[in-house]
Amino acid sequence: MPELLTIPENAIDPDAAYEQWVASFLWHIDQLPNVVQATGTVAMAPRMIRAQQLRERVSGGGYVDNMPVVDGPESRNAAAVWQALRGYLTVAASRLGIEAPLLPAMLPDDVEHARRWAYAANEWLATVVYDILDWPDLTALQDELFRLIRRARTRLDTGTIRRARPELCDTCGEHAVIVDWVDGPDGGAVLTRSCRMCGEAYVQ
Ligand SMILES: [Zn+2]
Repeated sequence: MPELLTIPENAIDPDAAYEQWVASFLWHIDQLPNVVQATGTVAMAPRMIRAQQLRERVSGGGYVDNMPVVDGPESRNAAAVWQALRGYLTVAASRLGIEAPLLPAMLPDDVEHARRWAYAANEWLATVVYDILDWPDLTALQDELFRLIRRARTRLDTGTIRRARPELCDTCGEHAVIVDWVDGPDGGAVLTRSCRMCGEAYVQ
């Protein structure tokens, strides 16, 4: 069984703990298409090229690759997720003996291209999640990848993908309690649950 994140092993039964690990895994990989879309060419350096010139060069075609880009935190986060994902897929494929998507060596500048690869990785990972065991090398890569995903997500306003249906709220009675994973004090993932209707926050 994979190592659990922050929940004491004796506090909750093993099956429920394993299902929670799966839920955490799926939550993290579902954010991939959103968090890889902050590529370098999204933000361009306004001081180096005036907007009008930029439009002419874009519409004229052929200069996009030469444009100065801002190497901002969002694109650095996306690139870090990309590299960690690529490494994770390689090791996971080796451990499982199943071919995984081989991501391009660098995060593509084309946002749609990056998202398509991220969806392919997401699909593959969601298929194999129940076959993943607690292999130390893979678990270490997973912890790093998921930490980078959480960091990239907090810097982007792209929304959060959740497979789980909202749960019943004990306070307002609506099915509106959503689940997220955030950084805990030790850098691991901590489950948070909050109601979209009344704002009630539930502590695990
Ligand atoms: Zn509520």
